[in-house]
Amino acid sequence: MIRFENVTKRYRGTKRPALSGVDFEVQRGEFVFLVGASGSGKSSCLQLILREESPTSGRVAVLGRDLKSIANRKVPYFRRSIGSVFQDFRLLPSKTVYQNVAFTLQVTGASRGFIQQAVPEALALVGLSGKEKRLPHELSGGEQQRVAIARAIVNRPQIVLADEPTGNLDPGTSVDIMQLLARINAGGTTVLMATHEAAFVDQMQRRVIELRDGEMVRDEVGGGYGDTSNVPRLEPEAIRGAAATAALQTVREVHRQTEAAIADPVSAPAPVVENQAAAAPAVAPQQATVKPSDDARPATHPITIPAVDLAELGVADRLGLDTGDDEEVGPTS
Ligand code: ADP
Ligand code: MG
Repeated sequence: MIRFENVTKRYRGTKRPALSGVDFEVQRGEFVFLVGASGSGKSSCLQLILREESPTSGRVAVLGRDLKSIANRKVPYFRRSIGSVFQDFRLLPSKTVYQNVAFTLQVTGASRGFIQQAVPEALALVGLSGKEKRLPHELSGGEQQRVAIARAIVNRPQIVLADEPTGNLDPGTSVDIMQLLARINAGGTTVLMATHEAAFVDQMQRRVIELRDGEMVRDEVGGGYGDTSNVPRLEPEAIRGAAATAALQTVREVHRQTEAAIADPVSAPAPVVENQAAAAPAVAPQQATVKPSDDARPATHPITIPAVDLAELGVADRLGLDTGDDEEVGPTS
């Protein structure tokens, strides 16, 4: 699904490589934490996966394709198979929740019918049904990140990359966001999350790839954060009280049920969680009835591109607005 082969990344004008000799493979459906201190190379890894940067040496393959082999003009189409979530949410401030999520689909030419189905589904999945008409500034930080996650998954990508998605959130809210990413992963989406927050990584017990000064120092299945002596720890009892401790237990429970569901998809119970997101139907992106590829190219609907300052987010290139080519990237691995 994602493969780094001896990847070294050297930025111009820097002495030390940001990444050196990084080698790992992420399989379909995995949930992987990319951990390490600030400056260790986590974001560089994610940028390489998105082909926002290219390796100085070595090879990056995503969805079965060597990224070098994808022509520049096709990069925006390649990126549509990857959802991205960032620390700073990156929502369009003057657009409503609904419009923020619909926007990605509109600019990629999805039909109105598809948008009308996919956007409410994505918002339900992240627990934001009923808040469609809010503007970002009318939401809490956690809710804004939920919008960003809805936007990342609305096109039903095979991979979701999250770069410090809880970095701007308080601990309790961070737990909610982690839960949400775990549920998205449970639907079959591969999730790669960069973080330096030890507590969540420990709680989730998922695969951990650790970088230190650009070198991979650990790749552990179901690992914790490793040597946490230098890492500020979030102590649930002391800092968060009973409610947050319960939330962490819920994460463990969701995790346990998720594992059970993967092992036995028929008889395992659906994860039961207690917050608002959980009240929404657990719509797995891959299980939705309409696939983008069936319906994304409008035959009769004109493409409506909303009036928006694209430069505001720098999304034009990412979404392929500068090209009329609508060929999809495929096949996938
Ligand atoms: P992390 O996300 O783990 O904090 P980054 O991948 O952002 O790490 O950065 C790794 C190293 O590469 C750091 O030393 C950083 O200063 C450097 N770096 C990142 N992006 C650039 C860039 N565009 N130009 C030059 N140096 C960069
Ligand atoms: Mg970073």
